Amino acid sequence: MDRNAKQLKTHLFKQRVWKESPNQAFTFYCPLCMASRRIPMHPKAGQPIHFVRIALLTLVFTLLTWEWFGPKGLVAFVPFWIIFEVLYRAKVRGALACKKCGFDPALYLVDTQKARVAVQEHWGDIAQSVKSKAPRSSLDSEESKP
Ligand SMILES: [Zn+2]
Repeated sequence: MDRNAKQLKTHLFKQRVWKESPNQAFTFYCPLCMASRRIPMHPKAGQPIHFVRIALLTLVFTLLTWEWFGPKGLVAFVPFWIIFEVLYRAKVRGALACKKCGFDPALYLVDTQKARVAVQEHWGDIAQSVKSKAPRSSLDSEESKP
């Protein structure tokens, strides 16, 4: 393989559209309006720091309730994890929707028709707000010009 082709191949791999890095904010491009999007967390729960946090919470819970549960309090990890994951997914879901065009990638994965209706409603609201803000006299005067 020639050197330029090798450099081009490595350059293409560096410019991924969907960047997944655990230490940075999660960035991607909106597939509808191509706006650069950024959410401040990883989209998937289950990162090592999440396990550490829930384990610490479980340890504190176990120590606080040692008289009643003893070492059986460690089982509280499971309900804590379930609550954490539900809340985390809701937070990610809320942050994923594009503020510019209203496209919701999660809704698109679930039901394509609902996603299309949501985008059309979003653009319809924007069009109505633009129409209501535009001064009627300037629109009328432009229409009367030949
Ligand atoms: Zn968008």
